[in-house]
Amino acid sequence: MQSAPKKKTVSNMACTELRLAGTEPESIVDGRGIRYTVFVQGCPHNCSGCQNPQTHDFSGGYTASIDSLLAEMKENPLLRGVTFSGGEPFAQANALADLAERLKRETTLDLTVYSGWTYEELLKCTKPGVHRLLDLTDYLVDGPYIETQRDLTLHFRGSRNQRVIDMNATRREGHIVLDDLDEETE
Ligand code: SF4
Repeated sequence: MQSAPKKKTVSNMACTELRLAGTEPESIVDGRGIRYTVFVQGCPHNCSGCQNPQTHDFSGGYTASIDSLLAEMKENPLLRGVTFSGGEPFAQANALADLAERLKRETTLDLTVYSGWTYEELLKCTKPGVHRLLDLTDYLVDGPYIETQRDLTLHFRGSRNQRVIDMNATRREGHIVLDDLDEETE
């Protein structure tokens, strides 16, 4: 993943909980525009050279409720969207899909999701919530970080194998459509 999480206490309420490494309420490096980034805790990929190794332990981090996260997202009128990063978001797909459903229902924010798995691998996955989260995703940044393919000139990703997939166009056209990041990124 791209930017490092800041650990923050988010008060719990009675609803679905996520295990988080941190949040960044105004990120400009995790997708287009100003974004509220949720860094989930727990990642199975162990990419060599990962910048966020503290997010790997599935029992680390802290818990936060969907209600409290949504409340923070709704507070900031400058946000263009929300990003789920990590850690591995699809390891908590069910809870994140619940959050994404409410995000779509209650706000106009778009959703970018990072994953160390490729889109093709996620399509084959039968774990609860994975397809539901994919269906709610506007932009998917997919694939593991590969140190030998590191490229600092890329927008919103660290290595050349990673793709930014325009999921709405992909669903519409029935094949993978990449987001054209050479155009304006606001
Ligand atoms: S997917 Fe790779 S780069 Fe991202 S948090 Fe996991 S180990 Fe690190």
